[in-house]
Amino acid sequence: MNAYPPILRKLIGILSKLPGLGEKSATRIAMHLLQASPGEAESLAETIQEMKKRIRTCPRCFLVTDSELCGICADPARNTGEICVVETMADLLAIEGSGSYKGRYHVLEGALAPLDAVGPENLRVAELLKRLPEENIREVILATNPSNEGEATAHYLSRLIKSHKVRVSRIAFGIPMGGDLKYTDRVTLERSLKGRQAFE
Ligand SMILES: [Zn+2]
Repeated sequence: MNAYPPILRKLIGILSKLPGLGEKSATRIAMHLLQASPGEAESLAETIQEMKKRIRTCPRCFLVTDSELCGICADPARNTGEICVVETMADLLAIEGSGSYKGRYHVLEGALAPLDAVGPENLRVAELLKRLPEENIREVILATNPSNEGEATAHYLSRLIKSHKVRVSRIAFGIPMGGDLKYTDRVTLERSLKGRQAFE
């Protein structure tokens, strides 16, 4: 790599810091860009700059957006009165991709993690509570992850939200489709039994 001109080494260094890219793939991308037309390279650089300038978070649910409210908050066809609370935007997109939820969301931007000094004040908790009366919310679905942090966050939020006389539910956790009972861990089995539903 030392044989490369400094500017190329710099680009490879920057690219290799991107998630999922090691030095090898960073070098491959840099080589591709080196051979790309000036227009292609420029458009990549401009798009990144433009994205950083235009994208911000929705002031209501904290999903990224390039307009006043995000597409979901601004959509009049979405069910009002219910909020699905997720830790991250990636979690929101996963639920959205399932096509099974038609309400609105709230992105917490993390989960409670006392050991890493992440408390409620570091999450969008106050903003969530403010939405309950403002949007006349009847139900909050807690879709934080089934990890220690996600569970702690769900318990914490549940107490707060119930004190506002709003119904709280938790997404069910259990055996994945295509899974096998005998290879399922004890905690997951316990959760699936507790969360069992009437069979139709
Ligand atoms: Zn929104």
